[in-house]
Amino acid sequence: MINRAIELVRKSIEPLVFTGAGMSRESGMRTFRGEDGLWNEYSPEQLSSISGLRSNPEVVWDWYRMRLMASEGVVPHAGYEALTYLQKEKGNLPVITQNVDGLHRLAGQTDVLEIHGSMRTASCLDGCGFSTELTSEVLKNIPPFCPDCGAILRPDIVLFGEPLPQEVILRSYRLAEKCDLMFVIGTSVQVWPAAGIPFTALDKGAVIIEINPVQTELPHNENVISIRRKAGEILPLLFGTGEKI
Ligand SMILES: [Zn+2]
Repeated sequence: MINRAIELVRKSIEPLVFTGAGMSRESGMRTFRGEDGLWNEYSPEQLSSISGLRSNPEVVWDWYRMRLMASEGVVPHAGYEALTYLQKEKGNLPVITQNVDGLHRLAGQTDVLEIHGSMRTASCLDGCGFSTELTSEVLKNIPPFCPDCGAILRPDIVLFGEPLPQEVILRSYRLAEKCDLMFVIGTSVQVWPAAGIPFTALDKGAVIIEINPVQTELPHNENVISIRRKAGEILPLLFGTGEKI
């Protein structure tokens, strides 16, 4: 199975990567649900919605600041480094991710499609056009305000009830239609419409190499190679970077 996967990687002309929370978790990225803090009595929907942001900006921003601070020591694992290597090697390897933590970019990857946005930047909630990196300077005042118009800022992630960014989603589907090989890494393929991306690739005849320690929604057939191991272990093996990392 591993040998067939290595051969497919070598031959692929239009490879594509699709990642989910499992990829981040291997780097120690935490998810936060009801831990100690101001936000404890608020539901995830309230903390991640426009209405929650408008009614409790201090609480919501306190939560995001905590998430950002917790991500400070998190570094991309060997699986990310292997993907960065393959991207340079192939010269063409778009990475579609459901993660908002920016680890793919931190690992030096380019052409990253963040379909749920990024928690590393923020923009004006009233849409005046202002946007900024979320530095500790910006987060000194909670909630942070737009210096141009005085509205509060919003994190650039897709909030509860918001549509996914159309251009990013459309390009993701277009890439899925024409790719010949898709890596599906650390995602259960359950959250729609994102889950449609690997199914589109399958429908159009691509082969999927799925890397996930647990069972997912992908079918079992000759076009799906399921490797039930961690990405940080298997990607360096598949891409021949194992010895160097
Ligand atoms: Zn503004």
